[in-house]
Amino acid sequence: MKKIAVMILMLALLLSASLAAAGELRVDFYDMGKADAMLITTPDGVRILIDTGTNKGGKALVERFEKEGIREIDTLIITHYDKDHVGGADKILEDVTVKQVIMPVYDKESKQHTQFMEALEAAADVKTIPMEIGSQMSMQSGDGVTMSITAAQKKSYGKDEENDFSLAVRMAYGDTKFFFAGDAEAPRQKELLMEGDVACDVLKVPYHGRLVSTTPAFLEAARPKIAYITDDEEDPANEALIQYLEQLGAKVYSSREDGDITVISDGQQVRTAE
Ligand SMILES: [Zn+2]
Repeated sequence: MKKIAVMILMLALLLSASLAAAGELRVDFYDMGKADAMLITTPDGVRILIDTGTNKGGKALVERFEKEGIREIDTLIITHYDKDHVGGADKILEDVTVKQVIMPVYDKESKQHTQFMEALEAAADVKTIPMEIGSQMSMQSGDGVTMSITAAQKKSYGKDEENDFSLAVRMAYGDTKFFFAGDAEAPRQKELLMEGDVACDVLKVPYHGRLVSTTPAFLEAARPKIAYITDDEEDPANEALIQYLEQLGAKVYSSREDGDITVISDGQQVRTAE
């Protein structure tokens, strides 16, 4: 009986090791329902977490990291302060060693934001990089992964404006490109189109798969091979948006239909690993 258990454990270890081979970049899109959390692991093992799900999602993420032996995150990027993006950040900061946090600068008053700021203050030795309106930054890891992050360009987007403060993250490895668009709505999507370099192999579809006026132009410019939508049964992604992505040649995945997915890049091509 014990032998079988050991063999199963070994098999499980082999399986997880075979997901990404040496020299491969891995992105785990976690099923948080209608909330975002994605973990990037570069070929050399540098970990970048984009968003943290809701409060409840953060708890699940911490448990998952404990199980998987993930004790350290090199960079945590908070795209914006809505509860389905920053909600789990306090749990992550309390439980996992985070080296630096990149976050947008805009006024926000909410329980989740306060909890995040308090956890950030309490966490030892964490470097914070607040990104002012109109700013841009780049990062490069020693193994050839480059990242460019842009902040929103305007100080105000009117009513219900918070989604448009989303930081946008472009990542490249070899010939492959990833685009994480936060919850960008039409004004912010327009900015991203103006910034250029929207074309990607893998797209985290903005704004939980809702259709806005700029969606066709944005998706056309992105033309991803793989698209991931963070939605749920209560608020499913727009059907026309899914069809449009498919017409552009994308394989569309969603948290609602597919749960977690893992995308691997070998620098030339991208593929999903179940
Ligand atoms: Zn959201």
